Amino acid sequence: RNFKRLMECRTDIERLNAPFLAIYESLIPPEEEKEKQKQLLTSLEKLVCKEWPDARLYIYGSCANSFGFSKSDIDVCIAIDQDINKSEVLLELADIFQSDNLQNVQALTRARVPIVKLKDPVTGISCDICINNVLAVVNTKLLRDYAQIDVRLRQLAFIVKHWAKSRAVNETYQGTLSSYAYVLMCIHFLQQRKPAILPCLQGMETTYAVTVEEVECTYFDQVEKLRDFGARNKETIAQLVWAFFNYWAYSHDYTNSVISVRTGSILSKQSKDWTRRIGNDRHLICIEDPFETSHDLGRVVDKYSIRVLREEFERAAEIMQRDPDPCTALFKPY
Ligand code: ATP
Ligand code: MG
Repeated sequence: RNFKRLMECRTDIERLNAPFLAIYESLIPPEEEKEKQKQLLTSLEKLVCKEWPDARLYIYGSCANSFGFSKSDIDVCIAIDQDINKSEVLLELADIFQSDNLQNVQALTRARVPIVKLKDPVTGISCDICINNVLAVVNTKLLRDYAQIDVRLRQLAFIVKHWAKSRAVNETYQGTLSSYAYVLMCIHFLQQRKPAILPCLQGMETTYAVTVEEVECTYFDQVEKLRDFGARNKETIAQLVWAFFNYWAYSHDYTNSVISVRTGSILSKQSKDWTRRIGNDRHLICIEDPFETSHDLGRVVDKYSIRVLREEFERAAEIMQRDPDPCTALFKPY
């Protein structure tokens, strides 16, 4: 039955290219937003460096990985090369920001990634600031580098993220997936197309290498040399969105498979020892982090939310297959 579904693609699929591209264009942040973000980063840097002169600030997450929508919050990482107590520093930072008239300043020292939140009244931008989360800065660069190889990645990921946000399946605290996980799913999917649309950068010659928290991060980052990589594959965004949802609705083997951008392939749960629940990690949908390879980005998914997710993938696949107006139905608010 699944095979049959895969073989039958609606005949008018190309009609959907223009509306998908219009949605993509409408979500791209305008240049002046980038300028405001840089401005805010500079003023935060001044404040932080008064107290910690060697500190460096980096933007990470969607504002820097090229998968950010217009008006999204920014994620900032402060790198301090000293032995520090994160919670204490975060509380000190909160005091400093408060005295500088930043709004809604709040230190969340007990979160999985402890942060200070704030809002800048000048630019209107909200911001989450963490300390020494350098791996996130490196995986941000990896995503940004992949995005430069073939524009279809950015287009597909925008559509998938927009769908996930509309359908309320982009909420890690409710057991669904992070934006980071969805982008990795898109990269993996494009690595698997035949012919491939994306290469496996971590499987190529090393041109970029850093060691962060004992994790060696190496890959080929001269992506300007790979601009033609996907040219032999002529699939359009409409076909890719259709195939993406079909894959996650009907073809992915949830029982045995782990998707791995690092290797550009599918690994077995067995080989990762992700076959049973340990503590709160259930491994019901397995997405290997490209650098922290023991880290399954699907670990937030529980036995309830896996059903929600799979039903949403099936709903999306059905819409792509049959709905007369998929662009409305797909993004219908949940
Ligand atoms: P959004 O547009 O929804 O804010 P985002 O790209 O900022 O998307 P988040 O899921 O908020 O995505 O994550 C921000 C960044 O934090 C990611 O780009 C990634 O670098 C890092 N990150 C998030 N979750 C994880 C995780 N589970 N493991 C490692 N890094 C993560
Ligand atoms: Mg973010």
